[in-house]
Amino acid sequence: MTLPVVTLPTETPSIHSDDQRQHLLDWDQSSLSDWLKEKGQPAFRAKQIWNWVYQKRATSFEEMTNLPKTLRDELDRAFVIFKASQSAITSSPDGTDKLLIRLFDGGEVECVLLRDGTRRSICVSSQVGCAMGCVFCASGLDGVDRNLSRGEILEQMLRLQSRLQAEERLSHIVMMGMGEPLANLDHVLATLDVARSPEGLGISPRRITISTVGLPPAIDRLSKHGVAYNLAVSLHAPHDELRTQLVPVNKKIGIKAILDAADRYFDVSGRRLTFEYVLLGGVNDSDDCAESLASLLRHRTAMLNVIPYNLVSGLPYKTPSPKSISRFKEILVTRGINVMFRQRKGSEIDAACGQLRRNRQA
Ligand code: SF4
Repeated sequence: MTLPVVTLPTETPSIHSDDQRQHLLDWDQSSLSDWLKEKGQPAFRAKQIWNWVYQKRATSFEEMTNLPKTLRDELDRAFVIFKASQSAITSSPDGTDKLLIRLFDGGEVECVLLRDGTRRSICVSSQVGCAMGCVFCASGLDGVDRNLSRGEILEQMLRLQSRLQAEERLSHIVMMGMGEPLANLDHVLATLDVARSPEGLGISPRRITISTVGLPPAIDRLSKHGVAYNLAVSLHAPHDELRTQLVPVNKKIGIKAILDAADRYFDVSGRRLTFEYVLLGGVNDSDDCAESLASLLRHRTAMLNVIPYNLVSGLPYKTPSPKSISRFKEILVTRGINVMFRQRKGSEIDAACGQLRRNRQA
């Protein structure tokens, strides 16, 4: 049965593209503190402003009633809290909300809130478009336009947080929306510093996952960063020939180099690795693929997430049949692989990355 989907029109206007005000979410607390000091304000004002924005969910300086009115006006002249607009909101009865965000320069990205029991998970984008070119993905069809700034990634998080009831809190973050997070690592790490800070969103790194197609030098940088986020590597094929067809960037890298980097990350972080595998009917769902995948993962401390493919209009790939899904699963389980077949939450609302943006452009 197809469940009803509710799509709402644009909710908030974006700032005008020639608005010179700074995006407050691009500023860290100490830079804001320096700015306030120059204005003759005490350092604790920066903490107060952060508290309003990240914890009390304020979207305007006017709401910050413990700041002097003159300071609120001065802040409003210098900064905006939200710099983008929501150009579409699509809600599914399974508790999934998907936002299409229009950036100040007209670019669009997507982000998703998933409600599951007490979990309130969000999936956010890190780039406009994507250069990795996975052949089954709507986000990569037109290549990459640019990296998102720290403020633009944080704004997605705050917009999704604002959809929660007052007593609800965000519990998990997944960097798995549009784009390759490790290709924008500086801004992603700066964003996650705020996400995990008790003065920011206060989400433990154990509940934050960075997803990647596998860029070994960037995985090594992440190892050196010293914060143990979860790492999810999108594998999608168990051998290089097929993987290069599905994830073209693999040609220059190769599965072995990716697994070696993932192993180094595990050694440093102690965090169990996750491998993602989009199951495409008739492409990578054979018995041979399942056997080869089991051989790759058998000796690793890892979880394998298998995601039966969501149809993307205009792309030739098929959802695997229930029979091939259960056969694939049986082989992996028999070989002792820790495997989960992920529910397709939100599939009614184009929750595969890049689909909402693409459908709106069509
Ligand atoms: S699946 Fe992810 S990495 Fe691949 S093209 Fe799409 S957004 Fe990029």
